[in-house]
Amino acid sequence: MNTQRPVRGKVRNGKVTVLKTQTPPLKGMEENVRQILEYMGEDTEREGLLKTPARVARAFEYLTKGYVQDPKVILNQAKFTEEDYQEMVLVRDIDFYSLCEHHILPFFGRAHVAYIPKHHIVGLSKIPRLVEVFSRRLQVQERLTTQIANTLMEELDPLGVGVIIKAEHLCMRMRGVEKQNSVVTTSAMLGAFRSQQVTREEFITLVTGSQR
Ligand SMILES: [Zn+2]
Repeated sequence: MNTQRPVRGKVRNGKVTVLKTQTPPLKGMEENVRQILEYMGEDTEREGLLKTPARVARAFEYLTKGYVQDPKVILNQAKFTEEDYQEMVLVRDIDFYSLCEHHILPFFGRAHVAYIPKHHIVGLSKIPRLVEVFSRRLQVQERLTTQIANTLMEELDPLGVGVIIKAEHLCMRMRGVEKQNSVVTTSAMLGAFRSQQVTREEFITLVTGSQR
């Protein structure tokens, strides 16, 4: 059995600032999950729950693995110089799953990410990876949106970046807020996407037009 756990880091403003190996916090988490079950009035010794604390701890480790991944490293793995293409690059319909930091309940939906290169392009598969890294952390949808946009802006120095995210929040749906079927939309428009109405409209049309 592999007992080596990933390196955990501390994240501030989207940057991993502390990286060091440490012993897994999973045992402590398992004990805490057991206590939560007891607070619920459950019998933690019954068969169906015996392994639940360990499963929950591993599930949370997986669902928050974005803390140990550096988005800048991922982008720089496939960053290429390209001076001749200065048109919009759009990756649409990127499925993501995240956890809201207020309730630790899922929110999930689709991200649409576009940029206009100036002198660098990035491998297309890295854009969904970027969404994945930031969404596998405790988040609010607003910050998830701006972190994706700002990181692309900083790493590629493009002419502009546009990000639109549409998501459903289980903390709204399961907790009986009135708008049961509401979808939350957030956007970040930087550079040309902010200053050029034509660019912004082209992006929005490409995202909203002819859904799959
Ligand atoms: Zn919430």
